[in-house]
Amino acid sequence: LKENYDLIVIGSGAAGMTAAIQAQELGLKAAIIEKLASLGGNSNRASTGMNATETVTQLSHQVIDDQASFYEDIWQGGGKTNDKELLKYFVTHSESAINWLEKHDIALTDLTSTGGMSQKRAHRPNNKSAVGSYLVKGLQKQLLDKHIPLFSQTKAMQIIKNGDMVAGLKIYNDKIGEKTIKTKAVLIASGGFAQNKTMLKNYAPDVLSLRTTNHPGATGDGIELAVAAGGAVVDMNKIQVHPTTQQDTDHVYLIGEGVRGEGAILVNQAGQRFVNEMSTRDKVTTAINNLHENGATLIFDQDVRQAFPAIDFYQAVGLVMTADSISELAQKAHLDGEKLRETVARWNDSQLSGVDAEFGRKTAMDRGLNLAPYYAIHIKPAIHYTMGGIKINKLTEVLTETGNKINGLYAAGEVTGGLHGNNRIGGNSIAETVIFGRQAGIQAAKYIFSNE
Ligand code: ADP
Repeated sequence: LKENYDLIVIGSGAAGMTAAIQAQELGLKAAIIEKLASLGGNSNRASTGMNATETVTQLSHQVIDDQASFYEDIWQGGGKTNDKELLKYFVTHSESAINWLEKHDIALTDLTSTGGMSQKRAHRPNNKSAVGSYLVKGLQKQLLDKHIPLFSQTKAMQIIKNGDMVAGLKIYNDKIGEKTIKTKAVLIASGGFAQNKTMLKNYAPDVLSLRTTNHPGATGDGIELAVAAGGAVVDMNKIQVHPTTQQDTDHVYLIGEGVRGEGAILVNQAGQRFVNEMSTRDKVTTAINNLHENGATLIFDQDVRQAFPAIDFYQAVGLVMTADSISELAQKAHLDGEKLRETVARWNDSQLSGVDAEFGRKTAMDRGLNLAPYYAIHIKPAIHYTMGGIKINKLTEVLTETGNKINGLYAAGEVTGGLHGNNRIGGNSIAETVIFGRQAGIQAAKYIFSNE
């Protein structure tokens, strides 16, 4: 670590890495610090895709989309409580974020669907593999190529101000102990707080008993750092519970929304569907909880499996039940076999007609469940994402309670609040990291150059 920088980024997730790359390309001396030994935070765990609208990828898949409908889906999905300024910036900069990634050798040229989206907007790699690890690896390669330093096992402890301006960052590292580094700007990109029991207890005690899909570093440090520096927070009680996680072992595995996005259905113990599987995460979670059956079961076939290769991983770690017929699958998954056969037959009919008379599902209707072998995964909801966080404006400037900015202090990614309202749509977190990560890099450069 040097004695001074233009910009220090706290956190090595997709938001932090994107910002550092963008800032350095504009001429800033930037560095990233990461408190863990491993890189990539929750970004590394994202599976399904990155939402964007009006992209070349969409057109090449015959998807004719527009910003107004993207905005409306997110607004409805977020319970009409989203920060409109952030949402508008988000929908108007999603296409340029996809293009920026492509220029950085991170091509997202395939598409899938997520719940609450009326169009296919979740951009993913051509081989349909998980978006998060692909993105994190691609960004890491850019950091190496551009010689942007990243210090792991180095924790941000305190933002140092001189008057109303950021002047430095106190860090801690086992080897060098505590040290204050001079910097003109700080970007907080340290992720959410789903692993912080004290914060969950304070803000959302009703979800405290649930497990979480999050990585161990999601402890809300950045929120505390911002508040100590005078920043405000918003929406802290809005916690996302993801409907489909597998938690029958010690680990909580996220079962990506892409399994449903490629055609899977959800059934209860009686072997019957009970919800439009492509509604928003809050609605699907509520429907599962209302069954009072210790979760529910995802059902799909070989065709769906091939369209969402993350399933190979779920199978490798033992989460997937397999059978040559629906009856045999029902037996293995402890479901009513006769009813499940009827359910799948009815579902296949609705694929042919294009109408889901029972639950009105409109997306991910392009394939029936016809191709053996058949698969089942037992799922239950778990805490997945914290919608609330640091209050920012569309320039990613951290705001105080009275709406003033703190000069040189920026925040982006899951650590911020407002964009998603009370329910984040799948595929919007990765989009947020790239869109607002870039913006933070740009705004930090603008700020620093205007003060020189
Ligand atoms: P985003 O999706 O917003 O980019 P991620 O969860 O992917 O967020 O990444 C945030 C990263 O920040 C994680 O790797 C996490 O370990 C790291 N982090 C959290 N708190 C600190 C801290 N105090 N100092 C340094 N890094 C931190």
